[in-house]
Amino acid sequence: MNASADYIGRFAPSPTGDLHFGSLLAALASYCDAKQANGIWQLRIDDIDPPRESQGAAHRIQTTLMQYGFRWDGPTLFQSQRLAYYTQKLRELNAANLLYPCTCSRKQLAGSTVYPGNCAYVLTESEYSANTTTQVANKIGHADLDIALRLKVTSDVNFKDAIQNQQAFKVSVDIGDTIVLRRDGLFAYALCCAIDDAEQVTHVVRGADLLPSTGAQLQVIRSLGLRAPNYAHIPVAINTQGQKLSKQTLAQAIQRMDILDTLKAAWHFLGQTELAANNVKDFWRMAISSWNLASVPKCSQVVTDID
Ligand code: GLU
Ligand code: ZN
Repeated sequence: MNASADYIGRFAPSPTGDLHFGSLLAALASYCDAKQANGIWQLRIDDIDPPRESQGAAHRIQTTLMQYGFRWDGPTLFQSQRLAYYTQKLRELNAANLLYPCTCSRKQLAGSTVYPGNCAYVLTESEYSANTTTQVANKIGHADLDIALRLKVTSDVNFKDAIQNQQAFKVSVDIGDTIVLRRDGLFAYALCCAIDDAEQVTHVVRGADLLPSTGAQLQVIRSLGLRAPNYAHIPVAINTQGQKLSKQTLAQAIQRMDILDTLKAAWHFLGQTELAANNVKDFWRMAISSWNLASVPKCSQVVTDID
């Protein structure tokens, strides 16, 4: 049977380090969900932040995924190849008067969880508005101008997550005017991820640590008149100190672990019924047919035996 375009899923790692157990969970869940629906599963490398990249990581991520038995459809997508396109989307937002420059320093914003709107006055005083559009236009494509660009966010966001249920984000307390172009000239994750998810996939299955940024991403999607994908946020794995497994918490790279055992541990973490697979090939055959999104737990869980 050919894969169907009614379901297009993706795994979108940033090449900041090797795959660890936390990333395997997102890969496994998104893969099983797509393949069970006879859908397409894409691999997208979110390489829009070169200073945070680890050399060779994009290549090692692909090798590890292959060793674990993941097979993605089509070529690997690289966000770094779409910079001209993201620039065009910023111009569209500027043409709709939805962007404004922000000069706040980190120090000025210390203590605020969402952006308090200090620089938003440029949108309310009419004598500034033409000037604002020009300033924004000057920043787009010119990294050296020392301002960030923010997206004016005006409405709350509600959506139903397939695992975490109904979600409600309030502009003033949960989202704020989100940065779409950073002071250093790099595109913000929320901008690129939102555009690619809306235009290239139908289903996003990823870690619940990204749930808070979904509000901002949906704002980007809405502002550009794009169609939002379906979201499912899986629980995150935390270590015994309560920290999310990540490169920063020194989570072990999975390429050094036993493949079948690690897949089974991830499967178990995701609340799935145990599989009597004796090899990786059998694991995948059984996993794809018995995957059940409804049994995935909502909350983060501690993993102790992954090393
Ligand atoms: N590339 C980002 C990360 O690895 C986003 C992933 C996603 O949206 O699934 O954290
Ligand atoms: Zn500001």
